[in-house]
Amino acid sequence: MNIVLLGAPGAGKGTQAAKLVSQEGLCHISTGDILRSAVKNETELGKKAKSYMDAGDLVPDELIIDLMRERIQEPDTSKGVILDGFPRTTTQAVALDTMLSELGRPLDAALLIDVDPEVIVGRLTSRRMCKECGAIGTAADGDACKACGGEMYQRDDDNETTVRNRLDVYEKLTSPLIDYYRGCDLLISIDGDRDPDVVFADVKKSLGL
Ligand code: ADP
Ligand code: ZN
Repeated sequence: MNIVLLGAPGAGKGTQAAKLVSQEGLCHISTGDILRSAVKNETELGKKAKSYMDAGDLVPDELIIDLMRERIQEPDTSKGVILDGFPRTTTQAVALDTMLSELGRPLDAALLIDVDPEVIVGRLTSRRMCKECGAIGTAADGDACKACGGEMYQRDDDNETTVRNRLDVYEKLTSPLIDYYRGCDLLISIDGDRDPDVVFADVKKSLGL
């Protein structure tokens, strides 16, 4: 099964993806995680991407499309992928269609985790992430990761100014993909403003899992 996750930053795509990975064995590809690791390791990609990410702007399409064209062909993707953070523009969506049809692996669904923008600002500014394993938590959870004990930190781009810009970018460039996938009859919309386990129950039901 090949799934695209859609939704504003902070809608809970990463949380739902992690649940799908642990229960269904799908391969999670998060462009945000790949880029953050590239920045941390100071690779060529990381050096090019960093200033865009810090501002909450999108990294240029060509960089992301080249990255994904390679990633999607690695052996761990053969049972299916959950794409989290890609595509984020219409150009990327068209490129993805081409990549998948070349591989003979059509998309099964575009899953929109739908959350009101004002709910998002509060969520993101209190979001914390584990330095070791990438687990997602909140400021209220304290300093240690519940999964591995690692140190929880706030992402550089989770401050209010950058969050507001990320939401604007989402509205302008990414939300048109909702209509794009509705047009291909692949869109499934889920109310994301509920407890993550309740959202996940809905996700599974709508995917027929
Ligand atoms: P979010 O919480 O905003 O969904 P991500 O972890 O998915 O965050 O992405 C963080 C940043 O990485 C984005 O703000 C953007 O700069 C960059 N990025 C991630 N995926 C893409 C993409 N498909 N196209 C362009 N830029 C991207
Ligand atoms: Zn951890």
